[in-house]
Amino acid sequence: MTNPLLADWTTPFALPPFDAISDADFAPAFDAALAAARARVAAISADPAAPSYANTIEALELAEDELDRVSGVFFNLSGADSNDAREALQRDLAPKLSAFASEVTNDRRLFARIEALWAQRDCLGLDAEQARVLMLYRRMFLRAGAALEGAAQARMTEVKARLAVLGTTFSQNLLADERAWFMDLAEADLDGLPGFVVDAARAAGAERGRPGPVVTLNRSLIVPFLQFSPRRDLRERAFRAWVARGANGGETDNRAIAAEILALRHERAQLLGHADFAAWKLETEMAGTPDRVRELLMRVWAPARARAEADAAALEAMLHADGINGALEPWDWRYYSEKRRKALHDFDEAALKPYLSLDAMIAAAFDCAHRLFGLEFRPLEVPLYHPDARAWEVTRNGAHVAVFIGDYFARASKRSGAWMSAFRGQRKLGGERRPIIVNVCNFAKGDPALLSWDDARTLFHEFGHALHGMLSDVTHGFVSGTSVARDFVELPSQLYEHWLSVPQVLETHARHWQTGEPMPAALREKLLAAQTYDQGFATVEYVASALVDLAFHTGAPPADPMAKQAEVLDALGMPRAIVMRHATPHFAHVFSGDGYSAGYYSYMWSEVMDADAFAAFEEAGDPFDPATARRLERILSSGGAEEAEALYTGFRGRMPGPEALLKGRGLLDDAA
Ligand SMILES: [Zn+2]
Repeated sequence: MTNPLLADWTTPFALPPFDAISDADFAPAFDAALAAARARVAAISADPAAPSYANTIEALELAEDELDRVSGVFFNLSGADSNDAREALQRDLAPKLSAFASEVTNDRRLFARIEALWAQRDCLGLDAEQARVLMLYRRMFLRAGAALEGAAQARMTEVKARLAVLGTTFSQNLLADERAWFMDLAEADLDGLPGFVVDAARAAGAERGRPGPVVTLNRSLIVPFLQFSPRRDLRERAFRAWVARGANGGETDNRAIAAEILALRHERAQLLGHADFAAWKLETEMAGTPDRVRELLMRVWAPARARAEADAAALEAMLHADGINGALEPWDWRYYSEKRRKALHDFDEAALKPYLSLDAMIAAAFDCAHRLFGLEFRPLEVPLYHPDARAWEVTRNGAHVAVFIGDYFARASKRSGAWMSAFRGQRKLGGERRPIIVNVCNFAKGDPALLSWDDARTLFHEFGHALHGMLSDVTHGFVSGTSVARDFVELPSQLYEHWLSVPQVLETHARHWQTGEPMPAALREKLLAAQTYDQGFATVEYVASALVDLAFHTGAPPADPMAKQAEVLDALGMPRAIVMRHATPHFAHVFSGDGYSAGYYSYMWSEVMDADAFAAFEEAGDPFDPATARRLERILSSGGAEEAEALYTGFRGRMPGPEALLKGRGLLDDAA
């Protein structure tokens, strides 16, 4: 019998035939798909014909079709609906897939073909997208070390292997420290804690076999404990343990590991001809250089710090009013800030939820996409991978655009968080292929399911990523949809969140699920006003972390990262009652792998653009202004086929400054 993963898919829109696929099909399908991809890459590499764009780059683009198809199904299912068999297969696959990727970039004949094309690039008659794809392929090979020879090549292999080990050890040490610590609470210590914190503390105690409730270092328990516990002594103990993760001495201490990682990254960047790791890392990013990142962060830093210092004074006055002398400490901030929030912006989350039913928020997200881009959504009755998943056909003027799958409810088989992913990406090469995009969330199920404000924002955020995938209109899969720089990829998603806060969207869609009444205007205004609360604190803890990350990777690596961290914070004038959001010994974004190393700034880089991009609609006087929406669609449809900066400038006529971000965070008054 044919493996359903490898057979032709005759389903509507060539969706994966979910009802015909069983877990036993994956391993043989991966073996066959990898073998096919290997054979094609080998044929390209050994092709006796002189290298041409078609026989090299286009052939590479089409070489992994079966692998794309099988991976698309498998990795979506292992994230959204895992089981033991899928987890085991995932562990087996990781080394096989990374070995294949290295084989390709280490293939010297293949790299020679790319180099030959690069040398003749001006005479090949390439269009703009082809020229960019050629540049991106060459850069990918160079960054993997394809041009290194002899001792340098051998050393590169060693450095990469050692970095992989150190990244894993860093994560495991952190996890060990997080698991080891807990603090028993007596019944009287629960005073002042809301029900959900008490429940979480009891559940954590039971899990650890303790006689009563405990506080652990899990963010979702310790943060609310620090927010609500009136016991200053307990807050201090918990806080000190929390910020000591990875720096407790002994076997799980991450400080020496951080130093070794920084030294090896520097060496790796220098082997590849870059001045330092930040220069190497930012080569592929929109920001381009460490100086541009630092400039942005410092422009945000000053007003954020000013706001945080003013807030600190208000919180310290509350501390003194409680009869406590002395300075506001880091373990006091969240507690007094929560009290102040209640006084200034109190609204009842429970009163809000009936206006935010899941179906109403899906309809709101679809309606905004209709008003901006003319998209229409029709429910599809097709077999999917789980009964909770739903599918829609997306069309425009009657023409097929994409299939959108929404998988919104939490379940044990789903990993945590929310994400957008593709079962199939868009491309035109080899025949137009339209995308199948999925949004996966972890909302609580209910009848009906009612969302929190954060949930609704998440839904809009992920739908913004989904639009990036669905509206893609490029030739090469390599640059399709969300295949863009990391500091650009959050622009469509963070931008889309803005439409949820548009009053007319709330008026139309945020209606009580039983009565159909719109959300009361007073509630809506309270909700929108509360969004800028405590942004001085949030901005300071984030920007401080981003600046330390950048300093670590600029110039010679520090022998003592903790001393370097202290030096950076001191020069910044870090407020005394705020610590870095992630200090070095537990800064997993930066040390567990390379994802956000010299890249923690990316969130803010995207936020500068999303705030400025939404301001374009405000300036046009209409949140759905058609001309502005058409220009925005160029960003969404171009994927990585154009330089991010050129795309943004095409949309806005200029690059953004941080003013819109500061305004969005309520920090503009503090800007000098
Ligand atoms: Zn995102």
